[in-house]
Amino acid sequence: MKNMIVGLSGSQRDFDNTGFIRDYVNKHYSDSIIKIGGTPIVLPLADDEETTSKYIDLIDGLILTGGDDVNPQLFQEESLPETQIPDPKRDTFDMLLIKYAIQKNIPILGVCRGMQLLNIYFGGSLYQDLKYNKEVYLKHLQGENSPHIPVHKVIPVKDSFLNKLFTDDLWVNSFHHQSIKEVGDSLQISAKSNDNVIEAVEYIDDNHFILGVQWHPEMMYSQGDNGDMKKLFQYFMDRLKQKKLNKI
Ligand code: MN
Repeated sequence: MKNMIVGLSGSQRDFDNTGFIRDYVNKHYSDSIIKIGGTPIVLPLADDEETTSKYIDLIDGLILTGGDDVNPQLFQEESLPETQIPDPKRDTFDMLLIKYAIQKNIPILGVCRGMQLLNIYFGGSLYQDLKYNKEVYLKHLQGENSPHIPVHKVIPVKDSFLNKLFTDDLWVNSFHHQSIKEVGDSLQISAKSNDNVIEAVEYIDDNHFILGVQWHPEMMYSQGDNGDMKKLFQYFMDRLKQKKLNKI
């Protein structure tokens, strides 16, 4: 069987203020997909239905990549001071990718912002900053020098998909200042941190594979975590293959 093609949702930025706007993803995503034996393709940001729908036709699986804050207007809130200036075009793009991936039964792995968008797509909301969640006491926004170093644990929720894959707690990295508040319809919580931050959600049955994780498995796996994070990517790739063979 040919390699599975995994679409990586792209961002746009004028990195050096020269007027040249670049389409890009962090290299950790493509490195991870290549390392696990798949074929990554970057999906350049587009905010129209036709292009995003065609993207989904090209791929076997979708990774919603991390990035800046989601516009709180999408969950009916005004911006609080800690929230970044929104990028409506990227929000629209990611929402359209989710819509067509679900419609066409393409498995989705949402990372960080990707998980938060999945939650909003299903009607959930976010804490715009972790300081508004009074239970938080762990380090959830680590420095950028060693992105693969785990800083806290996540505990799989009993009977969740994640708990079937991982019976023990997982050590993860953490790069977020926001987190899920209300969980969207159809989604189940699949892992929490010890200070009760929702760290993973899932919607998994015979017709859906939608998994969102608040940490960055791609930073860990591409930089040498060949344990739990490899297992997560391996499961994702196996799921794509099974679907391709029409077994699910
Ligand atoms: Mn965290």
